Amino acid sequence: MNVFQKSVALAIAVFSIMGAGHAQQGPLPFVYIGGVSMNCTSASGQTVAIYIDPSVDQYIGQALNNGYPAIILGPGFFNNVPPFVGQFWFLHECAHHVIGGNESGADCFAIRNLRNLGLVNHPLQVQQLLSQISNMRGSFTHLPGGPRAANVYNCLNT
Ligand SMILES: [Zn+2]
Repeated sequence: MNVFQKSVALAIAVFSIMGAGHAQQGPLPFVYIGGVSMNCTSASGQTVAIYIDPSVDQYIGQALNNGYPAIILGPGFFNNVPPFVGQFWFLHECAHHVIGGNESGADCFAIRNLRNLGLVNHPLQVQQLLSQISNMRGSFTHLPGGPRAANVYNCLNT
């Protein structure tokens, strides 16, 4: 499934294009996260529109459909996490347009695609991600941090 394209041609810091403004940016066909160009294609083959919007900072990001599939990313989060962590959450939001609403499934999709893209290069990356996830609170739809991190780790290794 040709869901993503990887480009390492430009080693630009991801959301440096975001600047310090408060306005929403987008729609964008791709974004650089940790120097990697990342895009998302929905299950029906549609290019997912990417927006950057400080109003979703507290949620990391959101996947939604406003007549077309879209992802909104919070720059306050993405500008302040290691590249691998940002790449994971981009793929998590993308997953909602590929596999649907299941949160554990979206986490699994994200970590497996990171691995398949060759972006898992060092145990420290995974450690930082798992540490972030294990501090997250659960909800009606999200496992609590510990089990959620364990699910991600299991998916990476299966
Ligand atoms: Zn989600």
